[in-house]
Amino acid sequence: MSKEIRVRFAPSPTGGLHLGGVRTVLYNYLFAKKHNGKFVLRIEDTDQTRFVEGAEQYILDCLSWCGLIPDESPVHGGEFGPYRQSERKEMYREYAELLVEKGHAYYAFDTPEELEEMRQVFKTNENPSPTYGHATRMRMKNSLTLGEEEVRRLLSEEVPYVIRIRIPESKQITLHDAIRGDVQFDTAQVDDKVLLKADGMPTYHLAVVVDDYLMKITHAFRGEEWLSSAPVHLLLWRYLGWEEHMPVWAHLPLILGPDGAKLSKRHGNKYGFPIFAMNWKDEAKGEFTEGFRERGFLPEAFINLLALMGWNPGTEQEIFSLEELAGSFDLSRVHSAGAQFDFEKAKWYNHEWLKKLSGMRLLPDVKIILAANGVQVDDDQKLITVIDMVKDRCTLMPDFLQQAGYFFTTPTAVDTDSIKPKWDEKKNLFFNELLKNYDLTQFWDKETIEKEFKEIASVIGIKTGDLMLPLRIMLVGGKYGPGVFDIAHIIGKEETTLRIRNTLSLLNS
Ligand code: GLU
Repeated sequence: MSKEIRVRFAPSPTGGLHLGGVRTVLYNYLFAKKHNGKFVLRIEDTDQTRFVEGAEQYILDCLSWCGLIPDESPVHGGEFGPYRQSERKEMYREYAELLVEKGHAYYAFDTPEELEEMRQVFKTNENPSPTYGHATRMRMKNSLTLGEEEVRRLLSEEVPYVIRIRIPESKQITLHDAIRGDVQFDTAQVDDKVLLKADGMPTYHLAVVVDDYLMKITHAFRGEEWLSSAPVHLLLWRYLGWEEHMPVWAHLPLILGPDGAKLSKRHGNKYGFPIFAMNWKDEAKGEFTEGFRERGFLPEAFINLLALMGWNPGTEQEIFSLEELAGSFDLSRVHSAGAQFDFEKAKWYNHEWLKKLSGMRLLPDVKIILAANGVQVDDDQKLITVIDMVKDRCTLMPDFLQQAGYFFTTPTAVDTDSIKPKWDEKKNLFFNELLKNYDLTQFWDKETIEKEFKEIASVIGIKTGDLMLPLRIMLVGGKYGPGVFDIAHIIGKEETTLRIRNTLSLLNS
């Protein structure tokens, strides 16, 4: 039997979830689904200084909004837990010590002042920020430079220390990446990263390797920004004797802003588009960042547009549901070059999804938008009909306020300026006659409404074409909306006649 596919998304709960992060989740998720595997959410919270209250819940909420539900996570459980690294703290030390024993890591007792001094001493024009590594380690206070006795003494006296990996001086190592092929690294460029911190917590580098191993992760897809850490991880897999279990790596292409630089909050502010999946509020920093959800994107569209930012299906098809994506997704079609984010295209996806989804599916979302703007809907069936009529005219969810609101509330602002220039006594007469007929009519179906309208126009001798805009303005308030007789039909006889009367009195006042 072949090995079960297990992938993971391993965010650090330090803030909002960037769209690149959601795309990482998505590719992991799609790969797992395609191969009947498991998608694991692991919270990498070992850096307590960067911990942000509420960030983990926010990540879970984003995943659930997108429909990317983990099979295993701190809240969904699973047999490889705990899924929060801070709760696994005790597991990591033995591996760090095993590495020391094997000679691949060492204890380092340097104080912050000594580290600073090293930076000053080794600073050159070519190397303005020297690191702790093969060039400097033998000048520092660590178990490579101190005698065994001294090391034992320091450890027993509980002098604060860290454990660092001992990176080989100059060695070519090759990482096979499923997207990029073989990537070469020279370890001369890599510093002796801390593996275990003075507070006993592992760093990301140690924890990510230990947990990918213990959680039997088979494929690790993450952002390109982690590629430079990959040699450290590869060496750890090797030194811990687990290389044959190492996951298949894939470093996903960066998402770029309109100027070609890595997409960041700065772009969002500059160009006025969201960067995060959902609204994010950092109480401590007093920061607020808008989300795609709140801007009015549907999760279906958000997922769809992210899927195609870095992957192509090899066909002309652009609209994919999550299920279709899971069926078509193929790592070999993920490109290595950065993918440019285009907000206009993002809106196009949303528009396409609005066209595609049913009024029934959109009902809860539209109700929220209307309610938030004071439009009360008591008749869900009516709203479903309205949504189906107007959704093609909407791009983002808030557009429903303009496009659907007037079906439920009498417009307060009526654009009479659009009809005033061509308004005359004949038209006045027509609408007064129309009111009389509509007041008396027994039936209020679209055909009757239209037939009476046309008959009166012909009796009075006005082209119906000249009357459509005035009627629309009267019923809608502005120059938009679907067929005007459909609108009259849906809002009902009383509301139709009320709106005509209201506008007539505005025009005649
Ligand atoms: N904790 C890392 C992050 O915050 C995960 C990187 C990885 O997937 O290895 O993105």
